[in-house]
Amino acid sequence: MGKVKRSPWLLHYDASSCNGCDIEVLASLTPVYDAERFGVVNTGDPMQADILLVTGGVNAQSAEVVKQIYDQMARPKVVVAVGVCACTGGVFKDCYNISGGVDTVIPVDVYVPGCAARPESIIDGIVKAVAIFQERSDKHEKYIKEHGESARDMSDPDAAAREGNPADFFDALGKTSDNKEGK
Ligand code: SF4
Repeated sequence: MGKVKRSPWLLHYDASSCNGCDIEVLASLTPVYDAERFGVVNTGDPMQADILLVTGGVNAQSAEVVKQIYDQMARPKVVVAVGVCACTGGVFKDCYNISGGVDTVIPVDVYVPGCAARPESIIDGIVKAVAIFQERSDKHEKYIKEHGESARDMSDPDAAAREGNPADFFDALGKTSDNKEGK
C-alpha cells in the first residue's frame, strides 16, 4: 500500500448475515487485530463514510437499504463484500428470499472470501480498499482541478459505467415478485 493522504472512514452494514462475519468484522476493529492502525476510522454515518463493508447476502428487504447507504456515500467510495454470503449469496444463494451477493445491487471492489471471513482476511480486504480509495481520491482531485469545483458531484468519470442504473435492479425485482410475465 502506498502513501495514504487521509484516514478513510469505514461503515459496516449487515445485509442478512448469520452474525458470524459481523463478529469477525468487530474483532478486526478491536485492539487485538486493530484495523485502525491502517488509518481507518469506524463510523455509523453513510455521509461520512468512504469504505462500505457489507456482510451477508442481499434479500428483498436489505437490497434497498444497501443501495440507499451506497447512494448516500460521497464519491470516491469503495465497497468490500465480507464473507462468501456477501460475495455470492453463499449457502443461501438458492433460497427464495436471497437475491445473491452484494454486487447484485451495487458495484463491489473487493471480495473477502471465507465462512466466516477471518479477521486477517478482512484486514487484507480493508488494506486493499484503502489503496483503491487513495487511487480514486487522486483521480477525483485531478478531475476537479481540470474541470473546476462545479464538477465535484460528477467528478468520477467512471462512476456511471461502474454503477449502472440501479433502477434496473428494482425493476427486475418488481417484475419477479409482482408480475411474473415481466410486463
Ligand atoms: S459467510 Fe458464513 S459466517 Fe458469514 S454470514 Fe455467511 S454463513 Fe454467516
